Amino acid sequence: MGNGGRKKRRLDIVLVALLVAASGTGTIWMGGHRARVSGTLSETAAPAIPVPARGSPAPAQPSASPSPTPTPTPTPPDYLSEITPTAGAGEHPARILPAAVPPPGTGGYLFLTDENSGETPQYDPCRAIHYVVRDKNTPAGGDDDIRQAVAAVSRATGLQFIDDGTTTEVPNWNRPLYQPKRYGDRWAPVLIAWTDPTESPDFQDGKYAGLTASRLVVYNAKLTAVYVTGQIELDAPQFQQHAAEPDASWIATEIIEHELGHLVGLAHVADPTQIMNGTGVQTLNGYGAGDLRGLAIAGSGACHPEV
Ligand SMILES: [Zn+2]
Repeated sequence: MGNGGRKKRRLDIVLVALLVAASGTGTIWMGGHRARVSGTLSETAAPAIPVPARGSPAPAQPSASPSPTPTPTPTPPDYLSEITPTAGAGEHPARILPAAVPPPGTGGYLFLTDENSGETPQYDPCRAIHYVVRDKNTPAGGDDDIRQAVAAVSRATGLQFIDDGTTTEVPNWNRPLYQPKRYGDRWAPVLIAWTDPTESPDFQDGKYAGLTASRLVVYNAKLTAVYVTGQIELDAPQFQQHAAEPDASWIATEIIEHELGHLVGLAHVADPTQIMNGTGVQTLNGYGAGDLRGLAIAGSGACHPEV
């Protein structure tokens, strides 16, 4: 196949989409509540977990007859201690890395937004984003591809990422956000999983090379939302198939950079010169100016010692 054919195929393999935003349903803090990805391809819902704010009262419960006596300070339901880690685990008193400086100019990015509040959840810059890699079926060069992409998104966001090594955890869009037996008393690390169409049928039609979702929790009376973990699935056979091509590593890194952009909250843009364009990563050289502006904002969120 000639060069033109190879280029076309390259486009085919790097179509990517955000599968899952984050949402919450059926919590004691709120009723039906979903996050929506504006202008992107598809999504499914995953549950968010309400987090009790330390020392603050829980929302009042409806009551048929008002009580004449003072209400004692409510305590969180017992089950929360089983589904959330100790509040503030891993939290630093200030952001860990300096805030990223965005390139001059404006625009060039979009954020995933919560359909109820219109807010754009962010990761906590005072807490490292730990990640693990499910390394079964890692394609040639895959470890380096992830390492380079993570370094790029960390530089662009000012968020610290920490490689916690490999895991045997099976990817699951509804994975528990807190897995103390596997990961200890903290939010589960971001799971980056090399997978295949058998394990992850979303890849069966070959439209996507990667899928990503971050997961949020909400807390306090304002229903403040914060991302606490996420998952990236990468279709290992597609990466392996093209690993022998001269620019395979470059392509693979950009696909993973795109997925990491979703992880920290960026949505697709129409501009084909940006990594976050929704139709395919093509002959780019890392994040573009719009991507970098968006990523700098993504990394400029508040600290959340309460979660
Ligand atoms: Zn995408």
